[in-house]
This record gives sequence, C-alpha cells and structure tokens, in this order.
Amino acid sequence: MAVSRKHRATAHARARSSAQHAPASAQQALGRSTRQRSAILSIIARESRPLSPYELHALAIRTIPSISQSTVYRNLRALEEAGEIHAVSIPGQPPRYELAEVAAHHHHHFHCRACDRVYDLEGCPGGLRGLLPRGFTLEEHTIVLSGKCSACVA
Ligand SMILES: [Zn+2]
Ligand SMILES: [Zn+2]
Repeated sequence: MAVSRKHRATAHARARSSAQHAPASAQQALGRSTRQRSAILSIIARESRPLSPYELHALAIRTIPSISQSTVYRNLRALEEAGEIHAVSIPGQPPRYELAEVAAHHHHHFHCRACDRVYDLEGCPGGLRGLLPRGFTLEEHTIVLSGKCSACVA
C-alpha cells in the first residue's frame, strides 16, 4: 500500500514538472504565469527604479487588467527565488524590487517621504571602515537617504 502511494506521488510530481505532458489547462496556466512574470520584469526595467508590490500592481493592471495584488506577490517571490530580481529593504517600509543586474552594481537608495518612491543613487561615499570600533571588520553596508524628490519639492 505504502509503496503504491509513493509511486503515484512520484508520477504526479513528474507530470507536473513536464509542461509537455501537462493537460491543456496546466499549459495555459504556465503560459499565463510566464506572461505575468515577463510583464513584471519589463515594468521594473522600464521604470528604472525599485518598485513596491503596490506600485507594481498599479502598473501591471494597465497591461493585464485581471492581475491581482496576490498574483503580483506570488510572481515577485518566484522571480526573487529565480535570482532575477532583488529586494531592496528600506527601514519601516514594504520591500522594493530591482533587477538582479542593477543590484549587482553597488549603489544606494533615496526614499522620498512625500511620494514614497525609492530612487537609485549612483556611487558610494566609501571610507566607512573608519566608523568601526577597533577590532571590528566590515562585511557590507546599506545606505538609504531620505527627503523629498525633485517632483515633490517643486
Ligand atoms: Zn517624491
Ligand atoms: Zn556603498
């Protein structure tokens, strides 16, 4: 009994992992999630600043009107697990997401307190080891500046 149940579970897992053997509805679902993921990736690339799940949803419904906030969350998790996007954490804020290729280039962020947008900052002041007490070693650093962006100052 236990053996046959295990066999069924393995066969099921195999069918799920192969799109060719999946029923038509599963193929449609696969096509839909690929479309959703590429839509989310192209929005992040186009806006060229880190976006929150909320901002992404507001932009994604322009191309996929039926997309829900929870679908956006699910796709963001999958894209992050696949190493295509990185989460930018801002203290006390929901995460923002940027492309992995952008994250690979060391940079910092600016958070506008008025419109809540996060922007990339080029460069790094460096020299941070000088802040450390004697005997400490520095492994990484995150710098988030906050204030008002030019659109909000105007
Ligand atoms: Zn602003
Ligand atoms: Zn830096």
